Amino acid sequence: MKRTLLLNNDYDPLTFLAERRVFRFLAKDKVEIISVWDDHFYMNGVECKFPATLRLKTYIRKNYRSVIFSKNEVIKRDKGICQFCGKHLSPNKITIDHIIPKSRGGENSFYNCVVACFECNNKKNNLLLDEAGMKLLRKPEYPKKYIRNVFEDKIKSWHEDWNWYYDRYKIVNQD
Ligand SMILES: [Zn+2]
Repeated sequence: MKRTLLLNNDYDPLTFLAERRVFRFLAKDKVEIISVWDDHFYMNGVECKFPATLRLKTYIRKNYRSVIFSKNEVIKRDKGICQFCGKHLSPNKITIDHIIPKSRGGENSFYNCVVACFECNNKKNNLLLDEAGMKLLRKPEYPKKYIRNVFEDKIKSWHEDWNWYYDRYKIVNQD
């Protein structure tokens, strides 16, 4: 049996749908068809190709696995890159900078902690970003991890249109 991949409105893969759910989504006009299989089916007497990829017309919030704050999770999120100068750091060169310094009430949280190299961490010292005249490469966010791996099941017939989503999915979810 051919399967159908459901994408969120932002093209993130959500799940594979059983056939009856595919028809329900189509009937309710909740999805657009991104790609199709060669197999046909009939809907309201009209011959259609069976969808391989569907995209939701409206964005739904995903359930993320909660990640407990730790230095390691910050390093994973920032991929070991200094969030000020963009340098890739070897593990023994990594420090964690508190955006609002601890001495000024900054907390240990994903929103307040970033990977920094020694130089940048020293330069920032116990200053705020503005005071130090420094900028972050990106806004620190809560690490995204899906509750369920969409692609963890073995899939018999693979549609080549899925490669792109699969690659993107791996990037978002890598450890
Ligand atoms: Zn740096």
